[in-house]
Amino acid sequence: MSPKLKLLREVISNIFSRPATIQYPREPAAVSSEYRGLHYPDLNKCIGCSLCMVDCPANAIKMVKLPPDYKNPKNPRGIYPVVDYGKCVFCYQCVFVCPVKAYITSNKFDMADYATHNSQALSLKTIGRGGKE
Ligand code: SF4
Ligand code: SF4
Repeated sequence: MSPKLKLLREVISNIFSRPATIQYPREPAAVSSEYRGLHYPDLNKCIGCSLCMVDCPANAIKMVKLPPDYKNPKNPRGIYPVVDYGKCVFCYQCVFVCPVKAYITSNKFDMADYATHNSQALSLKTIGRGGKE
């Protein structure tokens, strides 16, 4: 078969085949449930040990004070980690090292935004101020 005919056959077959790409973000992208995406500590579980901060290879975690009206007897130092998603490389070392499995994980990957994003607001939503929502 001549190269031109071969090309023509390829073109015709592609006209009638399904597109190889998806119309993201109009169509959702298929993401593995194992994908390491957005993650943040549950403040009801976190004991403020700082292990995740110490082990983070990207220096993406800072320990900050819990809200003054929130007392967690499991967290006597009253501190919790905040993940800077701009620095995070999503290795999940923090998730694996946490002794109380405090991190809530997800496969959410589309986090690009104009605002600087960190895990603080998500973590604070896991507790009510003063223990109430
Ligand atoms: S996933 Fe990795 S880089 Fe991101 S905060 Fe956790 S330890 Fe640091
Ligand atoms: S390792 Fe776990 S318990 Fe320790 S500070 Fe991090 S999230 Fe909290």
